Amino acid sequence: MRIGVAMMLMISMLSAVAQAAPVTINNMRMWPAPDSTRLVFDLSGPVEHALFTLHQPERLVIDLTNARMANQVRDLTLAQGHVRQMRYASRNSHDLRVVLDLKGAVRPKSFILKPHREYGHRLVIDLQEDDSRDKPVVAKEANTRTRSKDVIIAIDAGHGGDDPGALGRRGTREKDVVLKIAKQLEALIKKEPGMKPVMIRSGDYFLSLKKRVDVARKHHADLFISIHADAFNNPRAHGSSVYILSEGKSSSDVAQFLADSENNSDLIGGVSLDDKDELLKMVLVDMVQNTTIEDSHELAGNVLSGLRRVNSLHKNHVEQAGFRVLKAPDVPSILVETAFISNPAEEKKLRSPAHQKKLAQAMLQGIKAYFRKNAPEGTTLAMQERRHRIVRGDTLIDIAERYQVSVGRLRRTNGLRGDVLRVGEILRIPVTGS
Ligand SMILES: [Zn+2]
Repeated sequence: MRIGVAMMLMISMLSAVAQAAPVTINNMRMWPAPDSTRLVFDLSGPVEHALFTLHQPERLVIDLTNARMANQVRDLTLAQGHVRQMRYASRNSHDLRVVLDLKGAVRPKSFILKPHREYGHRLVIDLQEDDSRDKPVVAKEANTRTRSKDVIIAIDAGHGGDDPGALGRRGTREKDVVLKIAKQLEALIKKEPGMKPVMIRSGDYFLSLKKRVDVARKHHADLFISIHADAFNNPRAHGSSVYILSEGKSSSDVAQFLADSENNSDLIGGVSLDDKDELLKMVLVDMVQNTTIEDSHELAGNVLSGLRRVNSLHKNHVEQAGFRVLKAPDVPSILVETAFISNPAEEKKLRSPAHQKKLAQAMLQGIKAYFRKNAPEGTTLAMQERRHRIVRGDTLIDIAERYQVSVGRLRRTNGLRGDVLRVGEILRIPVTGS
């Protein structure tokens, strides 16, 4: 058992401000996620701070130099996620100590964010559940190895928590509508035999783009579909778009603009990705990605055809851009911009549960069309019997070749003796690999 101060993290920033007017904490927000909780302090300026944890019971202490709590914040109760309660007191007349009483062990991380969009200076504290301390690790392993026979579709609602995404003129937030659409899609997929949805984000909290991809891979996703709503300076811009990852440069300037604003998510969340190893990794990943891009292209085309029935299309073709969230090298991935939230008519539609459902149905149609041709081996969908209607000129050898089965199995499955095929007759195509 460890008692007392176990970890001491000192983060010194801008020590020059120490003599100036005190930094005020104007607001606090908390975003609980399943295995972590993010706490955000809205500040009047940059602050110097230090963190350390105490055990038995678990606590996190945050010391802020030359800081004070604004009056309106004093009554906020922030017992959410991993936090049982929060206390604070001033120290040596000008510093502030905040103590979080925790529900369990956490690994804390903190960083300062500069003003961005509607936000000013912020101090962000991430409390990552410390499973090395309270959970046995052994049981988890066995779980990840058994692969479900269902195809697994990772549904990623964009943005979340402190990152609202794009904003509509009536104040509609992208993070809210895309989560609703994602939940509609989840419900629809649950009803489909042979398919299983995995929600990357199930509530209003922030996940880095890298983490989103990691979650999908952890669940052995067969597909990754990231749901967003577009915004552009021109309120007349409208229509749905479907993106896949580009090998090189984006296919258009608008695509580049979008890629930038969606990728900026991580800057808003404050996670620094400017790490050289990361860059090298991505270059290597790009090399194995080309085959996945072909699959993604097919999936994107199918989803675009589905969306065409419920909304106008922004472009008539699949677009390519450098979205970081699409960078799972072995999972076909698409990013759907359901509509322009910056367009008043489309904003109104995005708010409507009936339209949200239509969008989800359109995406499901596309997903189903994709799996009819590309169900991964060993899944229930791949086992479903395929059929072939004989047309003039078909030969058994041609059909066998086309469906990658042997002529012998084709004969046995259909009880065929000779080589004569009747036009219009339907052949059952045996399942491959079983
Ligand atoms: Zn977005």
